[in-house]
Amino acid sequence: MNDYPQSRRSLVRDFLAMTALGAIGSLRSARAAVSEDVLGGADITVPDFKGRVIGRGSDNYELWRQSMVWHDSKPDRYPAVIVRATDREDVRAAIAYARRNGMKVSVRSGGHNSTGSSLRDDSLVIDLSALTEIRIDAHNGIASIEPGVRSSQLLYAAQKKGFSFPVPHCDSVGMSGFLMGGGIGWNYPQHGGVSTFSIVGAEVITAEGEILEVSATQNPDLYWTVRGVGPGFFGVVTRLDLSLYPHPDAVLASSYIFRLDDLQEAVKILDKIRKTPGVHERVEVLGVLMENPHAPAELPPRERKIFFLTAFAFEESEAAAEKILRLFADSPLRELAVQHMEFQSYDFGDLYAAYFSLEDSAGRMARYAVDNVFTDRGSDVLVALAEHVRDAPAKDCHILAVWGMKLARRADACFSGLGDCYVGCYAIWDGEENDRSNFDWLRGAIPKMDPYATGHYVNEVEGRGNPQRYRQCYSSANWNRLEKLRADYDPQGVFHSYLGHS
Ligand SMILES: Cc1cc2nc3c(=O)[nH]c(=O)nc-3n(C[C@H](O)[C@H](O)[C@H](O)COP(=O)(O)OP(=O)(O)OC[C@H]3O[C@@H](n4cnc5c(N)ncnc54)[C@H](O)[C@@H]3O)c2cc1C
Repeated sequence: MNDYPQSRRSLVRDFLAMTALGAIGSLRSARAAVSEDVLGGADITVPDFKGRVIGRGSDNYELWRQSMVWHDSKPDRYPAVIVRATDREDVRAAIAYARRNGMKVSVRSGGHNSTGSSLRDDSLVIDLSALTEIRIDAHNGIASIEPGVRSSQLLYAAQKKGFSFPVPHCDSVGMSGFLMGGGIGWNYPQHGGVSTFSIVGAEVITAEGEILEVSATQNPDLYWTVRGVGPGFFGVVTRLDLSLYPHPDAVLASSYIFRLDDLQEAVKILDKIRKTPGVHERVEVLGVLMENPHAPAELPPRERKIFFLTAFAFEESEAAAEKILRLFADSPLRELAVQHMEFQSYDFGDLYAAYFSLEDSAGRMARYAVDNVFTDRGSDVLVALAEHVRDAPAKDCHILAVWGMKLARRADACFSGLGDCYVGCYAIWDGEENDRSNFDWLRGAIPKMDPYATGHYVNEVEGRGNPQRYRQCYSSANWNRLEKLRADYDPQGVFHSYLGHS
């Protein structure tokens, strides 16, 4: 059924490698009254802490500080101490130490947040990346993961037991940051739109160092918080329990490449196909406005842009997947496209390399910034941004649309996104000297996207220059409840809130 040679796959990779769901940082947080001993310390001892401790005076401090953030624009923010926890008792010991020494606490798991939110001036950073245990309860279909687990680690562990989970599209993204902010994962349309709704339990360590079990029936306020709070939690999550899903036996993808001039026509056809019963509920549809990596070198940048559309079907058989993708193949999309690659069959795990490989251009240690909208008018947002993408200051800058999310607010989650589509604007570039033009470009997208917004995704907002962006990710009621819970659970403000909010 898949009669496309490997070279077609590399072609897909060349296109999709130009994209990423990620971003960068430079907002300074308020200085805490930290003791000078700690600030200058090389050989800091954190009582009862078994893991690595790096003080600001340690030889390798700068290396450790930079390694907290995945991309290349390392925020100009300097923690007092970085500690790498080996278990939950280490987390408690670190919190107790921070409190005794007047430091605020920040948390790092996979380090992928675009704003580098774990790096705060004079704070104690608890690095959870060494906590990577995964337990699968196959009988109940639950995975219990430690916070340092990455996307591919969970995917493969679940796959071995016949399950899947809507994990991030790039293999190295941290599961806990992803899940706690919302999480747009592979096969999201069949699994609730965002992965945070698949959290069924958690273990949380509070500012007081208490270890709390969290679920719909135990500490439900914290359960509500963990499901959507993003990079502003007032505690540390040391375990997440996740509902697993049946592993799809067949994964097929069909990709279409259009001239940017044909975008309006292409999304019109797409919107019609998506109204067909079954498509909206089952098919993951991603569209990218981007530079054509194979455009002739002599073409000016404005004329190198394309619309790259892919539909993924995750089904119990290839026949079922092919049937649903036929709707795309038999539509005028094929005729309109300048190139198409249909019914390509993948092992679930191959999707990372084929569609969001971090070994390619967008995965290099580039500089990142991102902002976004949730919307019911994804196609209109793309059309509104078409001219903007032509003017992108760097070749890897792109706009990503993710259709079929069906987001609705739930009483048991603070996640507040609404709408059918996520549209993210990604600036990806090299060289500090190009920061200004790229941030300006990103900022320029906001007035074009925001008129269509039904909300914003907290994991991918550019909150550094605009702290209000975090507030805009929540309904008023949910934001007020979050702030009330913050005051209740962390009255002394031990934990950092969102960037720019303390
Ligand atoms: C290459 C790339 C691909 C991406 N792909 C996707 C994608 O497919 N879908 C999607 O939805 N998003 C995607 N993202 C965005 C991603 O969801 C966010 O960047 C997310 O914040 C990453 O989590 P992390 O643990 O890696 O980051 P970190 O920077 O370690 O964490 C971010 C913040 O979350 C909070 N936090 C994290 N873990 C804990 C914890 N255990 N306890 C308390 N607070 C915690 C902290 O405030 C922390 O500073 C991608 C990002 C990149 C760079």
